[in-house]
Amino acid sequence: MEYAYLHFHATLKDFISPVKRNQIIAYAVDRRASVKDVIESCNVPHTEIDLIIVNGVSVDFDYIVQNGDEIHVYPVCSTAAHEPCRPLHHLSPPIAENPRFIVDVNLGRLARYLRLLGFDCLYRNDFADPSIAEISDKTNRIVLTRDRKLLKRRIITYGYFVRTDIPEAQIRETLHRFNLYASLAPLTRCTHCNEKLVSAEKPFIAHRLKPLTRQHYDKFLMCSGCHRIYWQGSHSTRIARLIEDFCRQPVR
Ligand SMILES: [Zn+2]
Repeated sequence: MEYAYLHFHATLKDFISPVKRNQIIAYAVDRRASVKDVIESCNVPHTEIDLIIVNGVSVDFDYIVQNGDEIHVYPVCSTAAHEPCRPLHHLSPPIAENPRFIVDVNLGRLARYLRLLGFDCLYRNDFADPSIAEISDKTNRIVLTRDRKLLKRRIITYGYFVRTDIPEAQIRETLHRFNLYASLAPLTRCTHCNEKLVSAEKPFIAHRLKPLTRQHYDKFLMCSGCHRIYWQGSHSTRIARLIEDFCRQPVR
């Protein structure tokens, strides 16, 4: 049997079982297979990959794996020096200045936090995987998921596997991965339906306010989709502290 040898670098090791994480993975070359298929057979989704260097040459996903190949796979944001391998074929697509997201069914809190910070984020608790993939493909939305099988779908170009299952850590991870700190716009989008908030004149909405709210607040925002009313104070102190915490860019 002939083999190709896979070396996964940096954060791509997160997808490899702990036993094999720091080992070279031998792949039995017993059929014609693209390097994309070979890499995904190791459970690493293509959306996580930026560079594939085979025998010192930068290749794309369609490269057909050969016996004896030494395949080095690097993630997006890799800091490894690749100078000797130029020209480099970067495989991760450029991210829009104001990226939009579609979030998998199990990440509802992450979706609400993204909206809280102003990001356009589609979420439904009954989204099926094919629908998420199709919407992402048609609208260039970035898929955020904890399901690596979803990210392996061929039509998904923009995606990210969220590593942690703690929502507050998930939002920090997402802000960091896509470097969203310059695009933060807290309290400009409805956390319930994702539509933009617009200012609302108090006389027009006063009949919908509870007496104490009507008495103590004068500035209001209304969701342009579901018509929920927001005002300073409608978010708890905990949420205000979370926003402050999320908006603080970590020192690298
Ligand atoms: Zn709304």
